[in-house]
Amino acid sequence: STVGTAAPQEERLVVVVRVRPSFEASERCIEVISGGSLLFDDGGKSRTRKYSYDHVFKENDTQEQVYKTTTAPLVRDVLNGYNAAVFAYGATGSGKTHTMLGPVPRKRGTASTPAPSNAPSTAAGYEADVNSQEIGLMVRAIEDIFLHIESASPDSACKVSISYLEIYNELIRDLLNPGGPLELREDNRGQRITVAGLSEITTSSRKEVVSLLVKGNKARTMEPTAANQTSSRSHALLSITVQTRTPLGTKQGRLFLTDLAGSERAKKTKNRGKRLQEGAHINRSLLALGNCINALSGGARYVNYRDSKLTRLLKEALSGKCKTVMIAHVAPESKHRDETKNTLVYADRAN
Ligand code: ADP
Ligand code: MG
Repeated sequence: STVGTAAPQEERLVVVVRVRPSFEASERCIEVISGGSLLFDDGGKSRTRKYSYDHVFKENDTQEQVYKTTTAPLVRDVLNGYNAAVFAYGATGSGKTHTMLGPVPRKRGTASTPAPSNAPSTAAGYEADVNSQEIGLMVRAIEDIFLHIESASPDSACKVSISYLEIYNELIRDLLNPGGPLELREDNRGQRITVAGLSEITTSSRKEVVSLLVKGNKARTMEPTAANQTSSRSHALLSITVQTRTPLGTKQGRLFLTDLAGSERAKKTKNRGKRLQEGAHINRSLLALGNCINALSGGARYVNYRDSKLTRLLKEALSGKCKTVMIAHVAPESKHRDETKNTLVYADRAN
């Protein structure tokens, strides 16, 4: 049986923007003016425009602040048996993986492959560090869940398990046990969707979680490193499942944390052939997600989860009483102005 709990009270959809630090002294196109608004200068004849969201994170805001504002409230719901989802949206290089994972090990720039201009000047500080203050939302969420469970009543027994997969070209791959593509299965007339053969690892250690996620991230198809800033064309999806047995029954909640593929347009990179197809799939997934999120915010009547693998997988977290947080990432430098504008508009529509 499922234990009944009070429905979550606050907003179902929260949209925030995070501005990453600038790594060079160059012209800027963004200024954060208060906790929830920013000014964007689009470089054209039109005036500087003001955009407002549920929150805007400034360049110096910490990983802890981002966690507390966006994800901590969802963890409470998940422990009460609800599903929830957090998305990191934005162009390649805007800071999505930094927010979700934190300082993952990166190859150093060499003479033949110099570090990109947007690499942090203090590159040494960004090597892998399990105990870093810079650790991202994924590890913070799991740790927070462990903490809550430890302080919970002794007659409830909890199990925390994780799975980590990527969707690349509409194919699903296990990032904890990389191999061939895995199939989506629907049972119960499409109500429950599972990935056949996906590893589900039960864990209770920070160190193990960090190493699993960092290894998994390295297995992602073309995830950019500081030495090679190719655009990332895969979505990485971490699912944290919490099962709680109480004297009254079992409840299960699931938190999905998604590091989305770079939102840059296929046409801009003038991709041909295989790359163009990749771009088309990414756009399909991001578009389908945008439509679902738009529906959540009250803009659409009918939600078609079937349009992409991403939305099919996330259906249980995008419907019903579930809460969704969109973290839209932007770079502050004027040279990224076009991508920044696209991201601000996407987030504005979701809002
Ligand atoms: P994306 O995943 O969107 O392609 P990354 O997370 O890889 O972007 O970020 C690009 C670079 O900027 C990386 O070197 C990353 O460490 C750095 N970076 C991004 N956001 C921040 C931040 N908030 N603070 C410090 N460094 C950041
Ligand atoms: Mg990334």
